[in-house]
Amino acid sequence: MNLFFDGKTGDGYTNASQIARVITENWLERNMFCPVCGASLLYRYVANKSVADFYCKSCTSDFELKSYESKTANVKRKITDGAFHTKLERITSLNNPHLFVMSYACMKVNNLMLIPKFFLRQIS
Ligand SMILES: [Zn+2]
Repeated sequence: MNLFFDGKTGDGYTNASQIARVITENWLERNMFCPVCGASLLYRYVANKSVADFYCKSCTSDFELKSYESKTANVKRKITDGAFHTKLERITSLNNPHLFVMSYACMKVNNLMLIPKFFLRQIS
């Protein structure tokens, strides 16, 4: 597995957070298989779809990617998000996506973990 990002993916973007999102999503699309059924590819939803970032054509699982820059592979205890409440509602809803959490530095993946969707549902 190639852990390095394709920096050209971010060409045309000027905002640092947009560049990071585009580059990390591109890496996941090119390198990640479906952790639920083992299908070899995940597919990206059209931009700004509110349900999730990626889906599997075989098992129809949805996935969200949250990434952050970190010099170490240590897992961050908090993940900030600009639209926190929207994201929280999405990942805790009944049809919530699985969550990929990626840390990266120097155009390379440091750590990637999957939080299964059933760990993220809101208890009411
Ligand atoms: Zn699948």
